[in-house]
Amino acid sequence: MTVPFLSARSLLALADQSHASYGADCACGMAACVGWESVAETRWPKECMHRVGTLHDPNAPHGVDLTFEEFHPDGTRYDSPNAPVAPLFFPYNRCDVFACGTCHRTLLKYTEYGGYYVDPRVRVLQADHIVIDD
Ligand SMILES: [Zn+2]
Repeated sequence: MTVPFLSARSLLALADQSHASYGADCACGMAACVGWESVAETRWPKECMHRVGTLHDPNAPHGVDLTFEEFHPDGTRYDSPNAPVAPLFFPYNRCDVFACGTCHRTLLKYTEYGGYYVDPRVRVLQADHIVIDD
């Protein structure tokens, strides 16, 4: 199924909708995921997750050609709970965006590829971390 390519602003709109019922006790089992967390495919609750968009630019080069550069102007790190959500930078540039049908949070998800493993990562989308780039 094709989903829309989301700008930072449309991402912000999704995050605002998800704000009201923000909570870590949802039956979806995603816990807080305030920073990036590894979530095995077997733990990912497909049945309550709806893919609502992607941050992967359909016109951008494929896969390994996407930048691995990260955006941390305030000294945060990849897995900091307060790291900026910068759609043009790693790993946001390869994320899909999901809405939980149960707790209505919005989640970002991408797959980290190692030599011999794939490692899906999930982070809850919080509006106040989104970098508006236009
Ligand atoms: Zn949920």
